[in-house]
Amino acid sequence: MFCPFCSEQETKVIDSRLVAEGHQIRRRRECSTCKERFTTFEIAELVLPRVIKRDGSREPFNEEKLRLGLQRALEKRPVSTESVEKAINQIKSSLRATGEREVESELVGNLIMNELKELDKVAYVRFASVYRSFEDIREFGLEIAKLGQVQDGESK
Ligand SMILES: [Zn+2]
Repeated sequence: MFCPFCSEQETKVIDSRLVAEGHQIRRRRECSTCKERFTTFEIAELVLPRVIKRDGSREPFNEEKLRLGLQRALEKRPVSTESVEKAINQIKSSLRATGEREVESELVGNLIMNELKELDKVAYVRFASVYRSFEDIREFGLEIAKLGQVQDGESK
């Protein structure tokens, strides 16, 4: 690539290392003309399936939307950003592993619930209550009971 300082075409790699647990390569480059140094990152571009929504429309998988959904469910919960990023990567890996070009939004929802179940039960119940619209009320009740928030006498 061109030098970002002087637009010279000749740059040389002076250092190269794996970062982000081996998912990225970081390269230090030096311009042969102005001698400025800069960093480039190389990551694999992996195509994620499109998402089929309930009304039948399709949309590209949106990582930001996924992140916001997880953050909303995890609001004020003791879960690190790193754990959230790991969950996002796990969901993306599972989606790629389907090998499908399109997947139902329900599958994405289920993958999110599986991750939240591991991360934080409160967040899981929050997400499930919105996502499932109380479809599966029995399992839902069990999850709430497990949280220990249902006091004796308050529940019928
Ligand atoms: Zn330069």
